[in-house]
Amino acid sequence: MSFSPIISFENITKKFPVRKGFKVQYVHAVRDVSLDVFPGEIISIVGESGCGKTTLLRLLSRIYVEDEGKIVYGSEIVPKKFKRKEELEFRRKVQMIFQDPFSSLNPVKKVHQILGRPLELQKLNNIDERIYEALEEVELTPPKNFINKYPHELSGGERQRVVIARAIITKPSVILADEPTSMLDVSIRAGIMKLMLKIRDDFNTTYLHVTHDLAAARYISDRVAVMYAGMLLEECTADDIVLEPLHPYTQLLRKAAPDPDRLVSEKLGYTGEVPNLITPPKGCPFEPRCKYAMKKCKNFVPPYFRVNKRKVKCFLYEKNN
Ligand code: SF4
Repeated sequence: MSFSPIISFENITKKFPVRKGFKVQYVHAVRDVSLDVFPGEIISIVGESGCGKTTLLRLLSRIYVEDEGKIVYGSEIVPKKFKRKEELEFRRKVQMIFQDPFSSLNPVKKVHQILGRPLELQKLNNIDERIYEALEEVELTPPKNFINKYPHELSGGERQRVVIARAIITKPSVILADEPTSMLDVSIRAGIMKLMLKIRDDFNTTYLHVTHDLAAARYISDRVAVMYAGMLLEECTADDIVLEPLHPYTQLLRKAAPDPDRLVSEKLGYTGEVPNLITPPKGCPFEPRCKYAMKKCKNFVPPYFRVNKRKVKCFLYEKNN
């Protein structure tokens, strides 16, 4: 793995306005997030719904634009507004897999048209050959059995394979995968994750993968970043998050995850709700729920502390530094 990141989020902040009568308030969706992603790496961003993880992906894909900070791809800052040529080039290199294969495919287009469209936009040649290659790569074989089908003629798993084929057809360096298995039957999730791993191995593709499923994150990722209330609270390896979670919120996520070896559910030991992101806590975002909270946690956002090779945003680890 290269030591220069392919993507860097640097102190990214994103707020969304919400109107209440004449008053405009702001939802603080992403707050001062920094994260490096290395070529060929699969990094999962895990957290509860509404924690800001999908917003982070959408910022990189330029569905949204950050208010503060910058996103670097390779050695270039990703512009907030693309010129047409820049946009085409960026979209060729950075592709997205959406959560819902049912709504992310045009129902009135056949697979051949769906896969051919990005190639036409990029003005690439050998369209049929590339479509066949992509279908073979996602194991929809023989391709001739699939190219003339409409999305409604495919199963959920086949549809998600078409979505993945569309994402890889321009040979991107980076794939942004937004909960790619959460809408699929449990029985076909493992097949899709194995396919994502195979694509990484075949093309050295980098994945930024968003999920709320710790088991999926552990299965597919090299590293995991835990997000809560718009902030990244812990970065560690995929095994660490399950075997030795450090941040109190990561410990809560671990305890709340279903575990077939643990038939009696553990007491979570935490109460309270995710904070309101219109008025987020001034200090540590987890302070209102944290059983270890100290006086300073209420007033100060903890910096990252290093614990071996891990990064933890919690004052409990201050003594390690
Ligand atoms: Fe708990 Fe304080 Fe650590 Fe936040 S910084 S998780 S409140 S101990």
